[in-house]
Amino acid sequence: MNLFDFTEIPADGEHWVRFAKDFLQHFGFHIETPPYRDAENVFDFSAVEQIPGKFNYHPFRWLVSCRHKAATRTAVKENEEADVLERLLRSRADGFIGFYSTSVSPPLEYYLTELKNRFQIKDYRILDAKFLETYLATPGFARIAFRYFSNYAQKHQVLHLIENDYLPILCEHCRKDLLKALFTENQEGVVVRLRRRKEKHEETAVIANMYVACKGDCDVELQAKYCNGMGLNAVSWTDISDLVSSPTFLDWTLSLIRKIGTDEFTYTTSALEKEIYLLKALAQYTLREPTGKTIPPTQKTIF
Ligand SMILES: [Zn+2]
Repeated sequence: MNLFDFTEIPADGEHWVRFAKDFLQHFGFHIETPPYRDAENVFDFSAVEQIPGKFNYHPFRWLVSCRHKAATRTAVKENEEADVLERLLRSRADGFIGFYSTSVSPPLEYYLTELKNRFQIKDYRILDAKFLETYLATPGFARIAFRYFSNYAQKHQVLHLIENDYLPILCEHCRKDLLKALFTENQEGVVVRLRRRKEKHEETAVIANMYVACKGDCDVELQAKYCNGMGLNAVSWTDISDLVSSPTFLDWTLSLIRKIGTDEFTYTTSALEKEIYLLKALAQYTLREPTGKTIPPTQKTIF
């Protein structure tokens, strides 16, 4: 049995496009609305990636064609991808991505290969059900998996406990739990480090405090509190949604260890305690590796 049931996403097509945009954005693409809009191609959009050169980055624009056929369990056929070249031209796209909830039919795959071999398109990729499942099952994509696949979210443990009790990551201003909010909304939180303003004789930068806040008003309020009233400067903003990806979580942890070991940088005890708490709270999400197993009824779950 497959880990993800793509029929959970409504068959109207609109939801599939929304899922495709979220997935590709999380994958590192910049999403663009196509310059044209007509009745036949409402399920197309553009995704842009930056190809690094020696001196500059060059945009590579993909035309993303969304086809949601999970309900019928049939592959996408050639006649369902009409006018590929014309659509690419109108989108000013370099390549074609088929974002499919099933698979691609061999004739369509052959047609796309021929377009590439004849240099009519630079490249093509098919992101089919198998491809999408592979990524959705990794911790970095958990947020998207839980948002679009409610059955999956109910069956699988969302967060695991590091200590006896769940460790929330609360906005210091409004007390909202920004860790749980990752699963339900786009409202994002930030972690902000605060450096003590240096005296003339001081050579070592001191991280004296840190806070977690909702982006926007809560962050602004807390900045005013700490930076105007307590002689601190906000020196870094990191999105919680970035920190819960495993590589960023590891980077964050390693850079903290390295910074503490240098002469230029130090922490107050209370700021370091906050960092340690944050690491443990983030680990409830980040170190969770979906295995496909459902939660045993006796096991303690968080939500
Ligand atoms: Zn808040």
